[in-house]
Amino acid sequence: MPLEVRNPHAGIPFTDDDATIAAALEDVSIPTLMCSMVHITGDPSWIRGEFQPAGLFLNEYQGFMDEELKARARAAALPVIAAFRDGGCELPPDPSPALLQEMMSYLACEPVADEYVPLFLEELGLDGRDAGAITWADEIADDVKADFPVVVIGCGESGLLAGIRLKEAGLPFTIIEKSGGPGGTWYDNRYPGARVDVGSHFYCYSFEPSDHWTEYFSQQPELQAYFERVLEQYGVAEHTRFNTEVIAATYDEDEARWSVVTRDRDGTESTLDARFVISAVGALNYPHYPDIPGMDDFEGPSFHSARWDHDVDYAGKRVAMIGAGASGFQIAPTIAPDVERLTIFQRTAQWMFPNPNYHRTVPDGDKWAMRHLPFYNRWFRFLTFWPGAGIDMERSRVDPDFDDSDGLAISEQNLSTRNFFMSMIAGQVGDDPELLEKVTPNYPATGKRTLQDNGSWLEALKRDNVDLVRTGIERITESGVVTTDGQRYDVDIICYATGFRHNDFLWPMTITGRDGVVLNEQWGEEPTAHLGISIPNFPNLFCMYGPGTNLAHGGSLIFHSECQIRYIMGAIEQLLRGGHRALEPTQAAHDAYNERHQSEISQMVWAHWSVTDSHYKNANGAVYTLSPWPIPTYWRMTHQVDRDDYVFWP
Ligand code: NAP
Repeated sequence: MPLEVRNPHAGIPFTDDDATIAAALEDVSIPTLMCSMVHITGDPSWIRGEFQPAGLFLNEYQGFMDEELKARARAAALPVIAAFRDGGCELPPDPSPALLQEMMSYLACEPVADEYVPLFLEELGLDGRDAGAITWADEIADDVKADFPVVVIGCGESGLLAGIRLKEAGLPFTIIEKSGGPGGTWYDNRYPGARVDVGSHFYCYSFEPSDHWTEYFSQQPELQAYFERVLEQYGVAEHTRFNTEVIAATYDEDEARWSVVTRDRDGTESTLDARFVISAVGALNYPHYPDIPGMDDFEGPSFHSARWDHDVDYAGKRVAMIGAGASGFQIAPTIAPDVERLTIFQRTAQWMFPNPNYHRTVPDGDKWAMRHLPFYNRWFRFLTFWPGAGIDMERSRVDPDFDDSDGLAISEQNLSTRNFFMSMIAGQVGDDPELLEKVTPNYPATGKRTLQDNGSWLEALKRDNVDLVRTGIERITESGVVTTDGQRYDVDIICYATGFRHNDFLWPMTITGRDGVVLNEQWGEEPTAHLGISIPNFPNLFCMYGPGTNLAHGGSLIFHSECQIRYIMGAIEQLLRGGHRALEPTQAAHDAYNERHQSEISQMVWAHWSVTDSHYKNANGAVYTLSPWPIPTYWRMTHQVDRDDYVFWP
């Protein structure tokens, strides 16, 4: 008889004593625990009784329950968990779909509408299945599959994911990665303090365990190690060429094949043949350097934040950091205690969002719960996913009836957000009107990437050895920075934390499609793709994290990648099953999608006239980088390929 396979999310059976369990319960998220108790007992009263969370706020894990209520919940749970242990960790039948929806609503502190339930059921995978796994490999003849090699460009989170699915599909594939290892952003960005700003238990593959994270917002080394481990575990490493860059790809219409030209570190070029090309190059990968006169004159070390030079010891040195967005915001507090002086040249103040868990280690008890308590880690994932899913996207929409002439808010709700953020900032700044003025953003709240505030940024700015300069830079000299008011700042090191070429999708590769059309020429300043994935004139080319798919409203890009790869593999499946050689989105489907996309995004805060110098905007001030869709909307749009959106070529 086959051994029954335990649902991987049902928790590893345990024999720990009561004291160990009681200690663990001190560390857990009580609302999440209550959901696990429903699984353990089959009794819905855990979420219907007194243990009600008062509200849900992104990255707040306790539902604002007071200490007494949490203590009563722990006391009630302990003997029941002990009995579960004594009974061999046997679970009663699974909760009904209706009860699962009620559990979602309990955690969300609001009714989770029917339309969202399929997404979250699939994403939580409570049945232990990987809903995105490819199941059709055996239904396609081996010789057919052998004739459809795939080149994936990039081995960050999305390229690695593509590799996992292609392997499951039994298609031959090669991943070309310009860096020396997997991880993309998490390989390149090794600056001091680099960490993810989306909760780690959500910012990871849905089909991989998430009980190992040591911090709620992991730092770069742990993320890089995660991608290395997944690469090996899924056997994708042997399909990957590191230190190799794709420089061009050209489509041959007669053969329905791509020629992909690569160049390795020593300059050797080679050509790969492919039926499909999946671009997984990310959008924030090529550093943007400012164009400041004299940059080459500086005699000390200077480098971009995403090319941090770890051979340079900044301890005891005078450091200039030019630019302070998401990267600079993490660098400054990390290096400030060690440098002699840190001078931060910030053009625009940033909005921040309170997050006390930002630098918090996952305590042992919470890790124990993630590992052993049934479905606890899945519900914890839901707790971080739901508030960042863009369900309340309307808060980002410009209210046409609101007086926005001062450029400080776009709606009443946005004004309240501004006031709330400002009260948090002012509370931290204290009695320093000059600093308060410098750190007060002059554009609507959330208009750029909103940063995570656990107090570390403003604490750093208040240090005696840190200066925040908001005056423009005139030039760089051999010894430092000169601002437009003539002030000189002599420094030993310059770090350019000036962001990335976000609008230059697939740059600097030359991608040539049907009839010799060059992708960057077709796009100009307005890169578009059907669903952000496929492009007219470029058969069998797919993008992950392509135009219009970055997320400014929250959510995890890894989730978005899972949506995109399911769609791409669905398209490939249709092509193979239909005996076709190529597919391409119709111009009509592409145009209709992008009209809707532009119509939506142009009404959102990120496109508002008052938000200037934003990497989300192109040279004309329009937004072609971001998704305007709530996450469930994009999930639905990409869940299945609509045949009518494509032309299939024989
Ligand atoms: P960024 O947000 O684009 O910030 C760049 C900074 O450089 C801004 O302060 C910008 O000022 C300044 N700057 C740019 N050009 C300049 C110039 N010519 N002169 C003076 N200042 C200039 O770049 P980033 O901080 O690297 O972040 C980029 C994106 O990467 C983020 O939006 C986020 O999506 C992602 N990221 C995420 C994390 C994370 O998850 N923890 C960490 C880092 C980055 P203005 O604001 O005035 O343009």
